[in-house]
Amino acid sequence: MSHPRSLPVSGMAKEELLAALQQAATLGARWREGRTWSLIYYVDEAHTQRLQDAYNLFFMENALNPTAFPGLQQLENEVVSITAGLLQGDHETAGTLTSGGTESILLAVKTYRDRARADRPEIVEPEMVLPSSAHPAFHKAAHYFGVKPVVVPVGPDYRADVAAMEAAINPSTILLVGSAPSYPHGVVDPIEALSEVAAARGLGLHVDACLGGFLLPFLRRLGYPVPPFDLSLPGVTSISADVHKYGYTSKGASVVLYRNEHLRNYQFFIQTGWSGGIYASPGIAGTRPAGAIAAAWASLHSLGEEGFLQLSRQVMETTRQLQEGIEAIEGLYVVGEPDTSVFAVASHQVDIFAVADALERRGWHMDRQVQPNSLHFMVTPAHRASAGPFLRDLAAAVDEVRANPSLAEQGLAPMYGMMAASPGDASVRETILALLNGLYSG
Ligand SMILES: *Cc1c(COP(=O)(O)O)cnc(C)c1O
Repeated sequence: MSHPRSLPVSGMAKEELLAALQQAATLGARWREGRTWSLIYYVDEAHTQRLQDAYNLFFMENALNPTAFPGLQQLENEVVSITAGLLQGDHETAGTLTSGGTESILLAVKTYRDRARADRPEIVEPEMVLPSSAHPAFHKAAHYFGVKPVVVPVGPDYRADVAAMEAAINPSTILLVGSAPSYPHGVVDPIEALSEVAAARGLGLHVDACLGGFLLPFLRRLGYPVPPFDLSLPGVTSISADVHKYGYTSKGASVVLYRNEHLRNYQFFIQTGWSGGIYASPGIAGTRPAGAIAAAWASLHSLGEEGFLQLSRQVMETTRQLQEGIEAIEGLYVVGEPDTSVFAVASHQVDIFAVADALERRGWHMDRQVQPNSLHFMVTPAHRASAGPFLRDLAAAVDEVRANPSLAEQGLAPMYGMMAASPGDASVRETILALLNGLYSG
């Protein structure tokens, strides 16, 4: 910090305050126009207004102590219960609402660790076996909770390699992980095969349906081929689904579900000896924003099954439009065979990171990833209007990079290229630490 700032001596007037905030908001990516490919899942202004109304009704409430707000508790339980229904749970299914996919995953890993501490005390260092495509939240959980991540490369189709994962199991293994779908390439792992392995070995299996939990059930109803991935499989012992992704609510809502209450007990935290009274909390946070719970409830109830079906169909149509348009551009290809509206685009001919820079100059916010070097797309209802303009800009960006190969040496492209080439390099970590310090100072 260069020099800590002081509070304004007297409070700002309302107009000045709002003007300053509006100014800050205008600096952001243009998500309302469908110019981001991640971060925001936007339906339309009417839906957003309903979420805001719901949030505002519970703006100041605190979900820390549900006995004070029984109506809020009811809303929370209904969101969890509806999610359990969508993911084919039964009367034994038990879950909680969390602040997001990361918290759901952190809690699941902690749950299995604590169960192993109770049931398998001979294990000194518990291990979980994950496909290389598994979300970083699992690594964060491993790091936070002292579980060793055993990473198994995905197969040539970018799906979890079940035989290799099974071979990685040892007496310290407590958990297997699969994604439905994976973030990088949008493919659903062979969850049925993983379920068989987990059941046969008596291991936990967590399905990360953070992305697909509110999409795959509707795609199946629409007739898309969706392999079994949820609690209908006996070996699946827990699953996470983000309401703040394809559930279209505002940020701060995900659901983690367990096979039964017995397993969920390892998630809860209870402190009885505190002078401040009995303290019990279901998840990681203490005080929890009630507005996020109300908005999640509002999103599910406002859309209803028909709304979700309609949005899911529309998102898949836009996905097809984008993928066909991309494949028609000389030099670009869609990576693997994505199962949903999440996919990656790579090139054998041009530097794809230079293409990303060229698109950003045209007002698009792009996400870059590796293995292979690619651009990442998460299609939402907002992209129905922007898909056409995007494809035109993409074709122009590819032409520009093809005509000027030196663009690969400018902008952000070299930094991403370096990180892709040597991900384990200590200098990459140093570069990112410096970036983070730059971002979180000022
Ligand atoms: C988004 C995501 C997560 C993490 O969720 P957050 O809400 O960002 O914490 C985990 N897994 C997958 C597959 C995701 O897409």
